[in-house]
Amino acid sequence: MKNRFENWGFQLNRPLVISGPCSVESEEQVMQVAEALINSDVDILRGGIWKPRTRPNSFEGNGEKALPWLKRAGNAINKPVAVEVATPKHVESCLKEGIDYLWIGARTTVNPFAVQEIADALKGVDIPVFVKNPINPDLKLWLGAIERIEGAGIQKIGAIHRGFSHFTESNLRNIPFWPIAIDFRKERPEIPLVNDPSHIAGKRDFVFDVAQQALDLGFDGLMIETHCNPDEAWSDSAQQVTPEAFTKMTVDFKQRTPEIHDEDIEQLRDALHQLDDIIVDIISERMGVAREIGKLKKAQNIAIYQPKQFKNAIEYQLQNADDLQLSKEFITNLFTAIHNESVHQQGEIYHGKQFADFDED
Ligand code: PEP
Ligand code: MN
Repeated sequence: MKNRFENWGFQLNRPLVISGPCSVESEEQVMQVAEALINSDVDILRGGIWKPRTRPNSFEGNGEKALPWLKRAGNAINKPVAVEVATPKHVESCLKEGIDYLWIGARTTVNPFAVQEIADALKGVDIPVFVKNPINPDLKLWLGAIERIEGAGIQKIGAIHRGFSHFTESNLRNIPFWPIAIDFRKERPEIPLVNDPSHIAGKRDFVFDVAQQALDLGFDGLMIETHCNPDEAWSDSAQQVTPEAFTKMTVDFKQRTPEIHDEDIEQLRDALHQLDDIIVDIISERMGVAREIGKLKKAQNIAIYQPKQFKNAIEYQLQNADDLQLSKEFITNLFTAIHNESVHQQGEIYHGKQFADFDED
């Protein structure tokens, strides 16, 4: 699979790179960043104009008057520019100023009303739009926002994975939950997927490693915040990197080749498929036993769900997890899935096929 941005007209043998400051602070500041990026891999110059800040009295962006500053900085290095929009008015101002790319930020993607208003403002317009994941780990909300923008007739839509808010102990500002990005790819394999390591990392020291992980997973692009004097930045100062550090990063990244044919890998894959057959056969046999138990439970009027039995079964399997080189989380997920299916199948014995499933919206 080639880089999906080639369908957008980019000639790339590496990921697409979007870079520039978190916020456009002044015309001089954004021009200085742009000029410092001139010999880097940057493909699109970004700059925040309206900043969604967590609390008031933080710098909320220079607003509309900063659009020409960003545009002039892009022109100075002959690069297109990208801006975050959160309202129809933002869209209108960007279109008037000739902004080349728009993105919808994480705090907007969470709100279908806001996304729909932006989509309505985009009807009949031909501009590429990126949609960042919502701040909560909800793949459907991310997909839904993209569907709303598609509904407006926008042809070029990209997705940006910028991680998710969390309450856990972590060195990272936003937890990446890589499986959600992978599931996104499964759902919408044709959409170019960009990683934003800056907002995941929250600290400049971690930006490189997060970006490399994204490249290892086959992302199509990166969005990395850059500032000539990051410590003095008016927003997100801890995570911005200098244009020099950014340029070095792009040189140091290990590029991963898309899939190629390799005999050794093919042989091992055949072995995997054979093992998969065995796993599915064994699970099917296990379900047969669960159904027998279901018949006996029904005859004796016993409740299907036996919490103590389930707890014991998982705890027993967890004892061997380390020796088997399997994570406790995986064992728990696997046996939860198997157990749910057993409960479901026993439910069918009790109530017939229409046994109610819980189906979330
Ligand atoms: C940004 O890119 O500056 C930004 C506000 O990002 P997010 O919407 O991911 O928080
Ligand atoms: Mn930022």
